[in-house]
Amino acid sequence: MSDAINCFDPVANPGGMLTVAESVARILSQIATPEQVETIPLSQAINRVLAEDQVSVFDVPQQTNSAMDGYAIGAAELSSEKNASQKQHRFTVVGQVLAGGAYAGTLAAGEAVEIMTGAALPVGADSIVIREAVTRESGQIFFSDSVKTGQHVRLKGEDIKSGSVALSAGSLIRPQEQGLLASLGMQNVAVFKPLRVAIFSTGDEVVAQGQALPENCIYDTNRFTLTGLLQRMGCSVVDLGIIEDSQVTMQRVLSEASQQADMVISSGGVSMGQADYIKQALEAVGDIGFWRVAMRPGRPLAFGKVGQAPFFGLPGNPVAVMVTFLQFVQPALRKMMGQKGWQPIKMMAVAEEKIKSRAGRIDYSRGVYRINDQGELVVQTTGAQGSGILTSMVQANCLIEIGEQYSQVEAGDRVLIQPFSDLL
Ligand code: AMP
Ligand code: MG
Repeated sequence: MSDAINCFDPVANPGGMLTVAESVARILSQIATPEQVETIPLSQAINRVLAEDQVSVFDVPQQTNSAMDGYAIGAAELSSEKNASQKQHRFTVVGQVLAGGAYAGTLAAGEAVEIMTGAALPVGADSIVIREAVTRESGQIFFSDSVKTGQHVRLKGEDIKSGSVALSAGSLIRPQEQGLLASLGMQNVAVFKPLRVAIFSTGDEVVAQGQALPENCIYDTNRFTLTGLLQRMGCSVVDLGIIEDSQVTMQRVLSEASQQADMVISSGGVSMGQADYIKQALEAVGDIGFWRVAMRPGRPLAFGKVGQAPFFGLPGNPVAVMVTFLQFVQPALRKMMGQKGWQPIKMMAVAEEKIKSRAGRIDYSRGVYRINDQGELVVQTTGAQGSGILTSMVQANCLIEIGEQYSQVEAGDRVLIQPFSDLL
């Protein structure tokens, strides 16, 4: 790993701070894209990433067909007829075609075929008059609406052309991609292998659920928020529990973790003035940089590699863990999963109140956005913003991202928000 990673070591360079963007860039430069591919049933492919371009060998839809229930006609003759007089149009119904079927003949002038949604357009027809627009009497239809050539018609290949890439490698398979692959007739699909991520918590004050809570201690929160985030990203989680404050244990767990997981994530123990054993353990088993990132919450961050696995040493505070996961771990995982073109969702909202911030760092406040009575996207904070206040995450539906250049946001200013819809 390059020396650049360690040049922001607070010991070597106490004033050095990385911006969030620099940190993301450094992290991504160390992350490899996946190689291992497996073929699985399409029905199980949700949240996986497509490993190969999918080229369609036929047009979707296969033939030009009706988008509505109604009557198929040739529009050309009708327009001249309509110009000639204002009376109702009249067509003779010569047949009926259902979805899955076809009309055997060719439509002649003045003829219409009754047609159902999805049924192939008869030869000689190019437009559909919807059923609701006509009156039908003794084998004839009458209507007065004008007709635009091609109306209510779905063209052969309008969704996917034969020979074109219907879905490219690197696409995340959401329900809509799953449906598109299904429309190509695929039963199985080649996807990248899901990632295994090992997580553990550190700190002698951190207690596992099911045990009594001694005085001055807290229950472990971070393994649960991390597990939830990772599972929502489709990763499998190797939960290594809470690691006692000892260098020997830490080294053993780290090297074991790196052998069984594609990524290792810890929380706690990375800020300055902490028990040095974590730093020593990390340096003994891996190539790790300790960074100070110009952000709040989440300033201390360790990043590097243990064995082949990228390692994230996230801060200990529960809100900081979630915020740093979203800003740093998520982009890294998306790249490792093989997803292309992913970007965090950000939008602008009007702040409804003054929001504290400091120039020179990005502040991520927990916020609640909504559409107000005037139809504007507005946002307020959830109140107290301590990095241990996890109820702020529970109340929030977004992070409010206040950039390095702002020392304060006034009510009425526009701010960036990161809605939680992606993962939370
Ligand atoms: P640290 O960076 O280890 O000093 O942790 C910062 C703060 O986060 C301390 O108040 C810790 O008690 C708390 N903390 C660390 N790990 C956890 C955890 N797994 N669950 C809840 N709080 C934690
Ligand atoms: Mg600690």
